[in-house]
Amino acid sequence: AKQQNESRFLRYNNELAQTNRLKINMEYELRRALKHNEFELCYQPIVNLGSGELVAVEALLRWRHPARGLLKPEDFIDAIEAAGMINPMGEWVCEHALAQMVAWRALGCDYRRLALNISNVQLKSLGFFRHLKAMMQTYQVAPSELILEITEHFILDAKHEVMLQFEHLQQQGLQVALDDFGCGYSSLSYLKKFPVNLLKLDDSFIQDIETSEVDHLLVETTIQLAQKMGLQVVAEGVERQAHFDYLASLGCHHMQGYLVAKPMSHDDFVAWCQQQACV
Ligand code: C2E
Ligand code: CA
Ligand code: CA
Ligand code: CA
Repeated sequence: AKQQNESRFLRYNNELAQTNRLKINMEYELRRALKHNEFELCYQPIVNLGSGELVAVEALLRWRHPARGLLKPEDFIDAIEAAGMINPMGEWVCEHALAQMVAWRALGCDYRRLALNISNVQLKSLGFFRHLKAMMQTYQVAPSELILEITEHFILDAKHEVMLQFEHLQQQGLQVALDDFGCGYSSLSYLKKFPVNLLKLDDSFIQDIETSEVDHLLVETTIQLAQKMGLQVVAEGVERQAHFDYLASLGCHHMQGYLVAKPMSHDDFVAWCQQQACV
């Protein structure tokens, strides 16, 4: 038994050492990536389901890794959070996205609002808001030009002073979207605790909407509830005409997905905007 315990201990120690190494490597990698401009943002339109009008554009992060190729957030966000590096990364995203808005304005691109994904970890303190406000000042971006996308995990243990920051910006026209809505637990109770403006219905509910009665019912009920609460629903992952038709029949407000456009580079997004303006 003693031997067994010892080997278990060794294994544990080994795993611990490995996690630490991963963290150190990640911190080093990330600093290098920031220094060498390996991060990029791509942009995906959110459009009104009825009119097709652009309502916002969501910034989505990519990492053009010199050895591992183009990485999506699922390949690195968790590691970045674990390494305690989400704040510098989030600040990079915020600054670059807001700087991009200046470029869009100069090009006459009517982006309406920019939506930023904010990790719960970024919202543990007020540093996020300090940086955001500084960037809004630098790039002359008004609160009414922004959407902050948060998840219910944040609302679960949000600090009062952080809530107040959101509230203050919301009074000035900023919108808050609850991302991945329907994926967690008791989502509805969060709506009482934190006044969001938009619900982003997770794509997992949309994929089989034309065949799954349960999904259909959940989407329908969510839209009705949102309407009664004065919230707008964005359906994510709208890929097919059938998805669109169902959502339209249910009175869903907005949509995002490959049917409209995939996430695009800055240049492609500008071209897309100009094409929209001509139609
Ligand atoms: P999300 O906020 O739910 O973003 C939507 C994801 O769905 C994006 O994946 C997008 O590319 C993908 N998508 C869009 N339309 C469709 C469609 O029609 N079909 C399907 N199957 N997928 C579609 P992506 O870009 O890989 O981002 C994944 C997640 O990473 C995001 O999920 C978000 O939670 C996180 N993320 C992205 N950018 C950032 C960032 O700047 N900061 C933070 N903290 N998280 C980010
Ligand atoms: Ca999002
Ligand atoms: Ca989402
Ligand atoms: Ca999702």
